[in-house]
Amino acid sequence: MTLLDPASLATAFKLTRPIKTGKPGNRRAIAAILFTICLHLPQPGTAASIKVTWDPARVVPGGVVMMKVQAPVALMAAEAAAGADRFPLLKMVDGTYAALIGVDVRSETPTLPVEFSLFPVQGGPPYRIRADLTIRDSRQATPRVQKLSLPTGMVDLNQRRIDQVREDNQTLGEILATRTRERFWREGFMMPVQGRVTTRFGTGRVLNGKPRSSHSGVDIAGRKGTPVKGSNTGTVRLADDFYLSGKTVVVDHGWGVSTIYAHLDRIDVQEGQEIERGQVLGTVGRTGRATGPHLHFGAFIRGAKIDPLQLIEVTRDFNNRSQGS
Ligand SMILES: [Zn+2]
Repeated sequence: MTLLDPASLATAFKLTRPIKTGKPGNRRAIAAILFTICLHLPQPGTAASIKVTWDPARVVPGGVVMMKVQAPVALMAAEAAAGADRFPLLKMVDGTYAALIGVDVRSETPTLPVEFSLFPVQGGPPYRIRADLTIRDSRQATPRVQKLSLPTGMVDLNQRRIDQVREDNQTLGEILATRTRERFWREGFMMPVQGRVTTRFGTGRVLNGKPRSSHSGVDIAGRKGTPVKGSNTGTVRLADDFYLSGKTVVVDHGWGVSTIYAHLDRIDVQEGQEIERGQVLGTVGRTGRATGPHLHFGAFIRGAKIDPLQLIEVTRDFNNRSQGS
């Protein structure tokens, strides 16, 4: 068997063909690009192709992509590597191997090269191929900026608060970078609260005249006490009180996906508890640094900060499209 050089393959077979995979009437314009890469199979004299599909075909920083690999031979396992991130692909009922990729909002590269290793059932060295995910530049001519005024004591923190926030961020960052292999969910992600999105993901922030990092989730309007539902099935990894995010719950959904719910008035779940999609986690509040009652809802894929609305969009018809183990 010939072990193919990923770089030369990517150059040699960089053909792109947009396809439609969505049902008519699906609001989302689904576009995917097929990368078809010919390679020699272990059996003498046969050749077939490996297909890599991205859905959607292009993303902006903060976006989410469902990536699928179709191999012409039975596989024992498949994994992918993107930058320093190495993760398994899970087998779906349609026989493909899939993973969700999150392009961190801070990403500045035009493409994300992904290297695949496919391990054939019959043994031998893995097939290795490479395909590039195209990342659209999302920088806008006039970026959305939100100006907020908060009590000076909440914005200009003293050293003790700065240390506390740093420690909080480290705790949250470690938990949000979950790499749990198995997937706990079988349906798409849902909005935790039905309400107006008041601050979108990525909105620039100016607090008391000073620029701060962009908004890491979406803010959803809601009255204090409104039930907050888990966006999908998973395990509660964190249920605690923080200086900035207030009463906060983090759920690990498996397959590298986690969601965060902040500024809660009340927390109704415990760390380690398994929850169902739509199960109440707590209630809308204004704990931590918040100007009024609302839910801050965020999502991460293997630590990459992504737009939770994109996660909902990309997994919208997951149930009837691609269930797998
Ligand atoms: Zn927020």
